Amino acid sequence: RQPKDRLGVALVGLGYYSTDLLAPALQQTKNCYLAGIVTGTPSKAEEWKKKYNIPDKNIYNYQTFDQIANNPDIDVVYVVLPPSMHHAYTVRASNAGKHVWCEKPMAMTEQECREMIDACNKNKKKLAIGYRLQHDPNTQEYMRVVNQKLLGKVKQASCGAGYRESRTNHWKQTKELGGGALYDMGVYSIQGARLGTGLEPIAIASAKISTTRPEIYTNIDETTVAKLEFPGGVFANIKTSFGENVNYLNIACEKGEIKMEPFQGYAGVKGSSPLGKINHPYEVPWQQAKQMDDDAMAIMQNKPMLVPGEEGLRDIRIVEAIYKAAASGQRVKL
Ligand code: NDP
Repeated sequence: RQPKDRLGVALVGLGYYSTDLLAPALQQTKNCYLAGIVTGTPSKAEEWKKKYNIPDKNIYNYQTFDQIANNPDIDVVYVVLPPSMHHAYTVRASNAGKHVWCEKPMAMTEQECREMIDACNKNKKKLAIGYRLQHDPNTQEYMRVVNQKLLGKVKQASCGAGYRESRTNHWKQTKELGGGALYDMGVYSIQGARLGTGLEPIAIASAKISTTRPEIYTNIDETTVAKLEFPGGVFANIKTSFGENVNYLNIACEKGEIKMEPFQGYAGVKGSSPLGKINHPYEVPWQQAKQMDDDAMAIMQNKPMLVPGEEGLRDIRIVEAIYKAAASGQRVKL
């Protein structure tokens, strides 16, 4: 077969993110395009087929999913399902011989993440996690300041990622489907703490879960705060919530502070430091298009993914440790 100049992507799970962000972004991408869909809802299949001109042979449901193995139009399967389903569909997609892009949070446990990485390795397929911010130039700029120590060493950081979630009966409020603020938004504050310090945490010093709506958030977290401990006495306080809007990353360095606010969003990510403003503007859904173009190019050139499975695993390991620290009231070593 001739090498392709664009990869065919199949979106799995046609909910909010696929519908409002990824499919529109795939109309802008240069290195990949929307080739197929996997949906459990026949009416969506009809609608998408017309809207995006998708041939019947590239439309699957969860029962026929594995037949994607025989479809040369599909190079990449993008898993955009509730988090509890990420593991199974990533493993199945790689067994079908497809590269996999998987949305955050990567999976429910470190064990699941390892199995996903192993499956992709065994099948010689690439695995990328949908951390769009790592493809964003504003994020890349604060990371550069930190990693090149342009403001000296990082002393401490704080990061908050949350919004007021008004739905009460969604997978985000359902433990079995992978709900909870820490899995959903907390991974962003963990990313902020890790990328913002340029370090990997060695322990969860403390963590606390709270809720203002106990009738909804009975067995999953609405708000979680945690103190992450890094080597060299560096700490990061993180917060995540389905109860309030928070969106900031502060990084205190020896020679001044980097302040990003909002530090995460589909557009408008910006900040400042003593070195100047950080503000590279773009419009929605440029970020998602950039992410998918970056990842498609890396696959075509057989280069490492910018955000590989190992990166998703690091965060899930921390999520599990934070839940453990909150439940036990004890410091949890990583
Ligand atoms: P939605 O609930 O809007 O959509 C999920 C879709 O998954 C459903 O519409 C459905 O699609 C399919 N599905 C299959 N089985 C189930 C089930 N048992 N319960 C619910 N849905 C099911 O979720 P989102 O689109 O908001 O989120 C999907 C993933 O994308 C999550 O991992 C989320 O964290 C991530 N995400 C990432 C963002 C980012 O910025 N990177 C932003 C938003 C979400 P169908 O009817 O086609 O089968």
